[in-house]
Amino acid sequence: MDNYSFETVKENIRIINENIREVQERYGCNQTTELMAVTKTVPPEVVNWVFGEGVKLLGENRVQEFLSKKDCYDMSTSPRIHFIGHLQTNKVKYIIDDVDMIQSVDSLKLAQEINRLALAHNKIMDVLCEVNIGGEESKSGISPDETENLLEKLSDMEGIRVKGLMTIPPPVESDIYFGRMAELFSRIKDKAIEGISMDTLSMGMTHDYATAVKYGSTIVRVGTGIFGKRDYR
Ligand SMILES: *Cc1c(COP(=O)(O)O)cnc(C)c1O
Repeated sequence: MDNYSFETVKENIRIINENIREVQERYGCNQTTELMAVTKTVPPEVVNWVFGEGVKLLGENRVQEFLSKKDCYDMSTSPRIHFIGHLQTNKVKYIIDDVDMIQSVDSLKLAQEINRLALAHNKIMDVLCEVNIGGEESKSGISPDETENLLEKLSDMEGIRVKGLMTIPPPVESDIYFGRMAELFSRIKDKAIEGISMDTLSMGMTHDYATAVKYGSTIVRVGTGIFGKRDYR
């Protein structure tokens, strides 16, 4: 905790929110954009600081880390928790009761397991499909061409509610990739596939959230920009 300063975190959140508002005004955006605090490597005591600053959404990447921290989170302001990291099918069972959304659905097999467990736990899990918009081999996510097809299959699953799309674009030329995501998102939205809704577009991180907002992002996922540089041990 020694490396973190409450005043800095507070100021960072203020600045990011201000930047989001500014971009929306400048480009006449009409979506609402929510700031998500991405918690990886950050101690739960520090994560708890964000709730007092109006942040109501956490992003979790790693199952083990989340399980070790979740009981220390201050849930008094009812924050929502989204899983945003790569999720192995055999780990869904550990998080199914504790997250409000899984943003990283990238295969039919993973969706089937989420569906099965959600039904067994009497709930409906909100999900986003993760799209590999840059076609990068190192990244998970489905290809843009296969997205609609996967969504059609998910639309029949009663334990899953599709809410939209998520992406981690290549680190350069973000305008191009966010532009493509915006197109894909609106094309699928226009199809009005029965059983799915397209109201969430999760894109933008510390280095590119302003550009993402310009292209219609409704959730920006920020870690470093809030908490400072990560210290990987
Ligand atoms: C780590 C991470 C983020 C946040 O990255 P920063 O550059 O620290 O803002 C956002 N989304 C995902 C999926 C991540 O893994």
